[in-house]
Amino acid sequence: MKKKQYYCDYCGKECEHTENIMVPEMVPVNAVNKQGIVLIKGGHVLKHVQKDVCVSCQEKINFLLKLMPRVDINHVNPICTKIIL
Ligand SMILES: [Zn+2]
Repeated sequence: MKKKQYYCDYCGKECEHTENIMVPEMVPVNAVNKQGIVLIKGGHVLKHVQKDVCVSCQEKINFLLKLMPRVDINHVNPICTKIIL
């Protein structure tokens, strides 16, 4: 039996399946018809999503999480981001 291959959700490299890694992510909530066509856009909600992440990207995420307390993000406009150093 052939082993299923997994790819990093961030860089696309082949990696191990990391079923225990859950990442908070804003996901769209839409009303769709039977064909999956969006009828009404309902905005976004914060959900925890399972990701397959290679070791290199895990190290990058770890680095970014250490910066997180120093970053002030305007939720209304994500482009307006201020880093407090
Ligand atoms: Zn990666």
